[in-house]
Amino acid sequence: MKQRYERPLIRKLNAGPLNKFGSRSEAQAVTHVDGAAVEDLLAEFGSPLFVLSEKQLRRNYQQAVRAFRTRYPRVQFAWSYKTNYLNAVCRVFHQEGAWAEVVSGFEYQKALLNGVPGPQILFNGPGKSRAELQLAAENDSVIHLDHFDELYELLGLAEGLARRPRVAVRVNLDAGVYPQWDRFGFNLENGQAWNAISRIVASGRLELVGLHCHIGTFMLSTKPYGVAAQKLADLAWSCLTQLNTPIQYLDLGGGFPSTNTLKGAYLPGTDTAPSLDEFAEVIADTLHRAGFRPEELPLLILEAGRVLVDDAGYLLGTVLATKRLADGRRATILDFGVNLLFTSFWYDHRISPAGEFSHHTEDTVLFGPMCMNIDQLRESVNLPLLNRGDQVVVHKVGAYNMTQWMQFISLRPAIVLLDAQGRPHRIRQAETVEYLQQLEEVPGHLLPAAVAPTRPATAE
Ligand SMILES: *Cc1c(COP(=O)(O)O)cnc(C)c1O
Repeated sequence: MKQRYERPLIRKLNAGPLNKFGSRSEAQAVTHVDGAAVEDLLAEFGSPLFVLSEKQLRRNYQQAVRAFRTRYPRVQFAWSYKTNYLNAVCRVFHQEGAWAEVVSGFEYQKALLNGVPGPQILFNGPGKSRAELQLAAENDSVIHLDHFDELYELLGLAEGLARRPRVAVRVNLDAGVYPQWDRFGFNLENGQAWNAISRIVASGRLELVGLHCHIGTFMLSTKPYGVAAQKLADLAWSCLTQLNTPIQYLDLGGGFPSTNTLKGAYLPGTDTAPSLDEFAEVIADTLHRAGFRPEELPLLILEAGRVLVDDAGYLLGTVLATKRLADGRRATILDFGVNLLFTSFWYDHRISPAGEFSHHTEDTVLFGPMCMNIDQLRESVNLPLLNRGDQVVVHKVGAYNMTQWMQFISLRPAIVLLDAQGRPHRIRQAETVEYLQQLEEVPGHLLPAAVAPTRPATAE
């Protein structure tokens, strides 16, 4: 076969901001994921393809539990379904001991179908219907109340139930994070949270078991967690001393950052994100000083999402074309775009060529295949000169992409889980036209038979 001629060239040393891992050039080839060859995976399951590493999922979970359990005696993780609710992923975490944290009726059903016992499902979210509240109450799940209308609805429902529904109050508070996430739950500082708690206790119809907050996401400072833990602990104290109601658990939500790099950040995420050990230290330290007797320390629940799954996910894909833009910049079109990588709106994902395709590198704009202007994955990334058919690996895409992906003008691809031995298991099929067509219905008057036949004009 005739080799393509490559003009000899002195490779430009792309210094970029240096850090302990060297420069930010992404030219390094990544040919395998967990021992499985990228080329083989794409040949077997099609391109593009999401790949998840079971080994990494379990490692992340075990490290997270260790970070907190070594510092605080009673810790429980609840897997945040919306971060990645593929059944296989959820089941890995449930096998490791995680409860389920769900934010919709759909996710609640998924948790039940994954075999999670009702009492181990925490039901968050601002949009629970009456039927969903009823189902959760009947299954003895904990309903995390978001607003007064939900509280009134549940109080009404509770009259007809044999058992008192268990509830927690979602609190939003000033933890020094701005803009403050005050749209979920009851505000602490203006007395709304206390008002809700008092009504719950006074009603006698609900069992108040927990206090919950989720102060934000991708938090780059540990301090707000100390503030939030202190405020929830104080609130729990008030419940005990003023309402004679001991609080069984404090739920500090999620929000711990993955090691992805935020768009426009000067340093890569591996350098800037505090570790889970650092977050655990602040939270545990605060709770140990909060005045609880050792045997009365509340259970600490965490709903970590992205930090547990982001770096276990990869997106493999293929170059469709390269072209020059009007200003001469090199552009590369990939077979996946923002339709599959929703998080590219926030992250500069690391993208690697899946082979040693070329020694020349150049700054490239990365576009997806969508026919819309916003479908740009990277504005400028230093990559080898890729050609049609070359393959790439996008790193740390396990969180939020497989739940927020959109169908738009193409079908969602297959997803594969690599087990501990690196063997691939398909955990979601690629969508097909037939699958999507199933949902559509064409009214009778639009069916072919009903359309009056017209004679094509002929040019005789
Ligand atoms: C989204 C969400 C989480 C997980 O957040 P991460 O930032 O991914 O850790 C946890 N709890 C609640 C209530 C959420 O809405």
